[in-house]
This record gives sequence, structure tokens and C-alpha cells, in this order.
Amino acid sequence: MHLLTKLTEWNAARQKVREMEMEQQGKCPDCSGRGIEMFPEKYLYSSHYICPGCNGSGLFEDWKK
Ligand SMILES: [Zn+2]
Repeated sequence: MHLLTKLTEWNAARQKVREMEMEQQGKCPDCSGRGIEMFPEKYLYSSHYICPGCNGSGLFEDWKK
């Protein structure tokens, strides 16, 4: 599947750019510094969860660990 490979590469590249942007701002890439993660598909049960990447701090330093 050529298209799928391309799509995966594109996603990985986009993720890298995002991580760099968030690092410059000192924010966790997973939650954009909010400290919580939104799961639209689980919205009915709960609106948000503590971000597992940064443990809710929203800081890039904590996400890196
Ligand atoms: Zn986070």
C-alpha cells in the first residue's frame, strides 16, 4: 500500500513539526499545554482526562520524560 506509507510519513512529519512548535512554546504536544486530553468519541462519558504525556502539567519538560 503505497498511499498508506505516504500518509504515515506525512503524519510523522507533521507530528515532528508540531513537537518542535510546542517545544519552543514549552508546551506538551499531546494536550497543547492544557494538561488534559480531549476524547470526542468518549464525550458522552467524560469531557476530559488528565493528559498521560505530561501528567496534567501541560509542560514540554514533563512530556519529554
Ligand atoms: Zn500534556
